[in-house]
Amino acid sequence: MYSRFKAYLFLTGLVFTVIGVLAWFQSRMAPVDPTPGPAPAHGANASEDVNRLISVTEERPNESSAASAAVIPPVAVSEIPANWRDDLGVPVLCYHQIVTEEQYRERPTPYAVTVAQFKAQMQWLAERNFYTVMPDDLVAYVKGEKKLDFSNGRRPIMITFDDGNNDFVRHAQKVLDQYKFKGVLYIYPTYILARKERSLTWAEIQAVRKAGHAIESHTMWHPMLNTMTDVEQRAQFADSKKILNEKAGANVRHLAYPFGIYTASSINLLRETGYHSAATTFYGANQVGEHPYLLRRYLIVKSDNEKIFAQKTLARSLPLRLVNSEPGAVLSGVTDIALRVPAGLDRTGFRVRVFSTPQNFSYDPKTGNLNVTVKPSKKRLSVLEILYKEKGIEYRANALFNHRKTAAG
Ligand SMILES: [Zn+2]
Repeated sequence: MYSRFKAYLFLTGLVFTVIGVLAWFQSRMAPVDPTPGPAPAHGANASEDVNRLISVTEERPNESSAASAAVIPPVAVSEIPANWRDDLGVPVLCYHQIVTEEQYRERPTPYAVTVAQFKAQMQWLAERNFYTVMPDDLVAYVKGEKKLDFSNGRRPIMITFDDGNNDFVRHAQKVLDQYKFKGVLYIYPTYILARKERSLTWAEIQAVRKAGHAIESHTMWHPMLNTMTDVEQRAQFADSKKILNEKAGANVRHLAYPFGIYTASSINLLRETGYHSAATTFYGANQVGEHPYLLRRYLIVKSDNEKIFAQKTLARSLPLRLVNSEPGAVLSGVTDIALRVPAGLDRTGFRVRVFSTPQNFSYDPKTGNLNVTVKPSKKRLSVLEILYKEKGIEYRANALFNHRKTAAG
């Protein structure tokens, strides 16, 4: 069993590296989205998926990256609310598998939580006055169009389940019912169409929707969007929405990015295909002013004990705006990234990293301008992390950038 567990850890490590260590900032134990790649209908197994991921993400060293920093044209930056510290925001939890102890022993994976863990976590939320909201509420909140109830210690939260596993009806749903919580299921239809042992059926999805849970999209077949053309991305968004609406009677308006990865095109394409929001895998709760197509969402994994679960759920956010780049922009060389964070902060309280590597940066407390240089790596993408610690509280923000493939890639 131990060696099998080690094999899982190895496989996990491989995926972890290949897809860009996106989740480093979540917790050292929490990789991004664990779902193996697409095309379950073609019988791809996990190792084939890993190979596929490697083949699409491996790149040659980028010799041209030493060129002088590229200049990106400015884009509009929305104001950061002055009272950002007072906005606790809306955390979004991301679950994948809810399994019995026996299932876990048979197939240990860090992306599963046990039913007992899930029950304890829901109880923890209920005891702390959390109540669940739906994606429409969350979007209205971040846009400043709707107030949510924070009175008397009440806290809104969104609880999400990725992929379309039938654990939801077997285990999760009755626990949620016990606390009058509603979930949000981000489903990729090819998983349902493949009728896997663990996948929900259309009838189950309809029943889940009628019970008041939200059915939303996780694209058509769970690709890494940064490997796709705009035409392909658009099809992922439009087709998944259409089939979920037709087969499950849903009214899909929200999406979760597979692996938390998106490109500069994704947001416009989502708008054009009728989506109102999209969720990443970034740290922190969603405050007023948060970008609706970059909603922060946190992965909950097996190794989360009560302390880590509490840290993730109560995580505080640093507002971040991109000044000279777009979300998911493709950087073709060493690039000076201009960002805006709140003004008036203490320079010494900041740490700026790309994945785990500390970066030099400048911060102007008068304007809140923060500048950092990002060097494209051999990976397809870089995740920038900004941490700010003040009076023992850590506030965090993230941004994702893609890197141009080399001519040979
Ligand atoms: Zn997924």
